[in-house]
Amino acid sequence: MILVTGGAGYIGSHLVKKLKEENKDLIVFDNFEKGHRWAVKDVEVVEGDLRNEKDVENLFENYKIDEIFHFAAFSLVGESMKEPDKYFKNNVCGTLNLLKAMKKHGTRYIVFSSTAAVYGEPENIPITEDQKKEPTNVYGQSKLMIEDALKWYSNLDIIRYVALRYFNAAGAYPDGSIGEDHDPETHLIPIVLETALGNREKMYVYGNDYPTKDGTPVRDYIHVMDLIDAHIQAMEWMKKNNQSDVFNLGNGQGFSVLEVIKTAEKVTKRKINYEITSRRSGDPAVLIASSNKSKKILNWEPQYPQLEKIISDAWNWHKNR
Ligand code: UDP
Repeated sequence: MILVTGGAGYIGSHLVKKLKEENKDLIVFDNFEKGHRWAVKDVEVVEGDLRNEKDVENLFENYKIDEIFHFAAFSLVGESMKEPDKYFKNNVCGTLNLLKAMKKHGTRYIVFSSTAAVYGEPENIPITEDQKKEPTNVYGQSKLMIEDALKWYSNLDIIRYVALRYFNAAGAYPDGSIGEDHDPETHLIPIVLETALGNREKMYVYGNDYPTKDGTPVRDYIHVMDLIDAHIQAMEWMKKNNQSDVFNLGNGQGFSVLEVIKTAEKVTKRKINYEITSRRSGDPAVLIASSNKSKKILNWEPQYPQLEKIISDAWNWHKNR
C-alpha cells in the first residue's frame, strides 16, 4: 500500500487524485492543520500527526505500507524565521518518527518533498544539484537536515529515497477540481489571481531593485501536474534500480514578478492593481533550475512548461471554486 503524508495539502492532493485515477491502493495521513478535507474526497484518510510517535506507530501497525510519498511539512519561509522551533520540530522530528517506523516495519521506499531553498543564494544559474547548499532560511535548513538523515538511512541500507527539490510549484488540476489554497496565502500566483478576482484590492511587488531584467525577482514556475509525474517516475526508478538520489524539478526558464502579473492579465483579461514595496527578507534575486539530471535519469519531461498554461489552470480553479 502507498502512504501519502500531507496528502490533503496542495501538492500531495494532486498526487493522490492522480494515483486514485490509476486505481492505486493508498492511504492519506494528514493532521489537517494546513490540508483540506475537500481535497481528499473519496480517499481513505487517517488523521494524525507525524510529531506524535504513537500516531505514526499506529499507522504502520494498521496498514502494510510499502512505499511513501512524504509531503507533510510546514513550508512558509517567512514564518520559519519567526518560529524556527515549529519548523524544526514538525519537519525534522516528524520525519525522524517516520524513518523510525520505516526501519521497524521494513518499509523501503520514500519520495521526499525537498526544495530549491536548500541552495540559499545560488552560485551559478541554472542551479545544478551539486552546487553548494547554504540555506538562507529555517525552512530550507529543515529540509536539508532531512535530506542528510535520508542519506544516512540509505547508506545504512535501511531505505532507498529520492529527494525532489521543487522550484516554484504552481497551477492546478486541469479539470479545475482541486488547486492551491493556503491560509494565509503568501505565494505569488494565487495572490495575483485573487487580485484579478477582486478579492484583494491590490497586491504588493516585493522590490524592483534586484539585478534582473526589470528589477523584480525571477523564479522558475513549474506546473503541479509535472511535479506529480516526476514523483511517480522517481518512485518507479528507485524501485527498479535500488538506488537513492536527489533531483531538481523546474522548467529551466525564469519569469520576473512583473512578467507573471502581465501574463496573468492576459489570461484573465483583467487589470491587476499592484504597488511596488520593499524587498521581502530572504528572497534571492534569481532561482532557475537545471533539470537536466531529472530529464536524463528519471526520463522526466515537463508537459506544461508554458507560463500561460500554468496560470490558466490556476485561474480555472480560482474563479470556479
Ligand atoms: N512576491 C511578490 N508579491 C507577493 C508574493 C510574492 O512580489 O505578494 C514575489 C516574491 O518576492 C518572490 C516571487 O514573488 O520573488 C515568488 O514568491 P513566492 O512566495 O510565490 O515563492 P518563493 O520564490 O518565495 O518560494
